[in-house]
Amino acid sequence: MRTLSQLNFKNERAIIRVDFNVPLNDQLAVTDMTRIEAAKPTIKYILSQGGSCVLISHLGRPKGEDPKLSLGNIVSAVAAVLGEKVSFCETCIGPEAEERAASLESGEVLLMENLRFHAEETAGDLNFSEQLSKLGTIYVNDAFGTAHRAHASTTIMAQFFKQKKCFGMLLEKEVRAIEKVMNNGEPPILAILGGAKVSSKITIIESLLDKVDHLIIGGGMVYTFTKALGGQVGNSICEPDYCDYALELLEKAKTKGVTIHLPVDVVAGKEFSNEAEQQVFDVMKVPDGWEGLDAGPKSTIQFHDLIMECRTILWNGPLGVFEFSNFSNGTISIGESIGAATKKGAFSLVGGGDSVAAVKQFGLESKMSYISTGGGAMLESLEGKTLPGIAALE
Ligand code: AMP
Repeated sequence: MRTLSQLNFKNERAIIRVDFNVPLNDQLAVTDMTRIEAAKPTIKYILSQGGSCVLISHLGRPKGEDPKLSLGNIVSAVAAVLGEKVSFCETCIGPEAEERAASLESGEVLLMENLRFHAEETAGDLNFSEQLSKLGTIYVNDAFGTAHRAHASTTIMAQFFKQKKCFGMLLEKEVRAIEKVMNNGEPPILAILGGAKVSSKITIIESLLDKVDHLIIGGGMVYTFTKALGGQVGNSICEPDYCDYALELLEKAKTKGVTIHLPVDVVAGKEFSNEAEQQVFDVMKVPDGWEGLDAGPKSTIQFHDLIMECRTILWNGPLGVFEFSNFSNGTISIGESIGAATKKGAFSLVGGGDSVAAVKQFGLESKMSYISTGGGAMLESLEGKTLPGIAALE
């Protein structure tokens, strides 16, 4: 892995692929600075080494030019977060873009217009990539959130830099966190998978069976397993077409020496609503007219004990319908347990979509070792895939 410290940035112009795909309100003001904050260490490091920075990113999913999705809307936010003057170029390729970039002095920052105003970006167009490459002398990728896409700015343009390309600090941290779980985690290694459906997690489950010692299956996935095992699922979310597969997985886990843990009890609701009447049932005995919406109290105690024994913990997906406060206890409790294990020295990684949202919502962020910034990229990494953006740097 070629990192920032392996290159000399003095008097070099770094073109940095950042992920500034930030949320904007109706007044087009940035409502969450997390992604800009995340890119700050890389930018500041390069400036401190006597380099200049050309920042490229996408924002939203524009079809052609769209003033609402102009990166011009976020220049002041970027400047405020960085504590630096940031200028803006209204295009990201062509003579004007190249002139503006070439005229940068050491210590200066230039933000380019939204890459996705050009269809060539997502198409991974070679010519567009070459034009982008002219904006800098060193290519830095710090956008983990798009590293699973073979787009011009995330992957294709890397080929124009030979040795002068590297991981940004955020990308490096993300990759190292995933490696800590997938390749060199301290045992016992535990993965906690929640979420709605077995069908959307198949490749992740398969890949994790080769990596972990324990696997907790939670959320809506549970009922496909319990039905397969002859249990009653009532009105719970269930994918009968995947019951055979669930049994196969249980067998596979056995042969690989992985212990699969299902909840022993569940909190069910009379309907799919926060205000629904609720009752706790044995996981194998959810009656008709009830649907399992959260892990039950006995389960969370058992999961806590297991979590406290593990040294490496990956969490992907909520344990119940955490969006309903009355059915969020299982998810909160798992988060608290992971936090306690982390405090005891375990390494914990939270990644991929809704578990990150849950951790933020319940104020558990500071209790985890690492929270991934990239949903899709994280999921593909857990599936064991090599991300094109990362391969392009190597
Ligand atoms: P995923 O994107 O697959 O990680 O799924 C996340 C979604 O799963 C969240 O919106 C949860 O509300 C939902 N979910 C978790 N547990 C259940 C459950 N028991 N029944 C229905 N939906 C659930």
